[in-house]
Amino acid sequence: MPDATAAGFLATELPRLTALRQKLHAMPELSRQEVETSRLVAAELRALGLVPHENIGGYGVVAEIASRAEGPMVALRADMDALPIQEATGLAYASRHPGCMHACGHDGHTAALLGAAAYLATTRNFDGRVLLVFQPAEERYGGAQPMLDDGLLARFPFDSIFSFHNWPGLAEGAVSVADGPVMAGSNEFEVVFRADGAHGAMPHLSADPILAGGYFLTGLQQIVSRAVDPLQSAVVTVGSFHAGMAQNVIPKEARLRGTYRGFSLDMLAHIRTRLENAVRATADMSGVTAEFTLDGPDFPPVVNSSREAQIMRDVATTLGSQQLTSCPPSMAGDDFAIFLTERPGAYAWIGNGTDSAGLHQPEYNFNDAILTTAAELLARTAEASLQTRTA
Ligand SMILES: [Zn+2]
Ligand SMILES: [Zn+2]
Repeated sequence: MPDATAAGFLATELPRLTALRQKLHAMPELSRQEVETSRLVAAELRALGLVPHENIGGYGVVAEIASRAEGPMVALRADMDALPIQEATGLAYASRHPGCMHACGHDGHTAALLGAAAYLATTRNFDGRVLLVFQPAEERYGGAQPMLDDGLLARFPFDSIFSFHNWPGLAEGAVSVADGPVMAGSNEFEVVFRADGAHGAMPHLSADPILAGGYFLTGLQQIVSRAVDPLQSAVVTVGSFHAGMAQNVIPKEARLRGTYRGFSLDMLAHIRTRLENAVRATADMSGVTAEFTLDGPDFPPVVNSSREAQIMRDVATTLGSQQLTSCPPSMAGDDFAIFLTERPGAYAWIGNGTDSAGLHQPEYNFNDAILTTAAELLARTAEASLQTRTA
């Protein structure tokens, strides 16, 4: 008879979950290419006696664990994809796929959710239904929206949704669940300034796209410093500026690419308007033409709802010796934001250890010691959430 407490059950499961995590680590797959990963997840779910629904919005996999046929439904989500990075950990179970690596710990997220699934499927100590959501393409392309477009909510009408990300630099197993914004919303832009081009000694014969680019780059520093409430957070970064080939030629074109980020769609819209104004004003002043392109619509921030965040925090305070902590939000983003625009939910950070390499670094590795903490947090948050809903 297995230990019925989540901590006891998962402690027994830890060797199996660790082996599973390391197996996933060795077989990373890029966004939208999670063929073998999703197949493995489905096989693990079947081994638990569950019925996986595969190929939802790409390689998405979902499965339901129910204590009764109807009733409230809480979703738990993990991401499955890896990154185009050459691994440099030297681990025995390092990536077998050159140029592809689990450098964001999604191997750990997937294994932790499978751990939560094992506990929940065995004990079913909740009143309602838990939906396991394994999402593809978190790092690129946005895999959450295709799952929703594929009828995820119509087929599995969950009431709330929870997820987590491992967090390097935060103490091993420490849990932070903020109220409100956790990760930023963002967009990417490109500006191209164009002119006729001329000999470098004859500047009166052409407007100068390089000078226009320089003014634009300087001018947009005013957006965050002068047009954003100093008590709010925002960032505008130009990470690429290309123009010209020769020292004595005014080129025909200057191309700048950048990103802007903030913690609300209103903030992103505000920054976008100021960027558009800056492009127009620079073109007018410099006599160049300008083209401004966005990567797509502004991508929303991850915003925890306070009710769901409180449920998750209450569970975190009882996780053995682990400490509940409180971290400021990050300017990075997560595709989980898309689910949170549809349903309330919460997203936790779990410390990957203070000596962990950073996310998206070739030396990074998910810390297997936090698998049980993560699995227990997810599973017991689902239990607590369902008890709360029917209370
Ligand atoms: Zn990542
Ligand atoms: Zn990630």
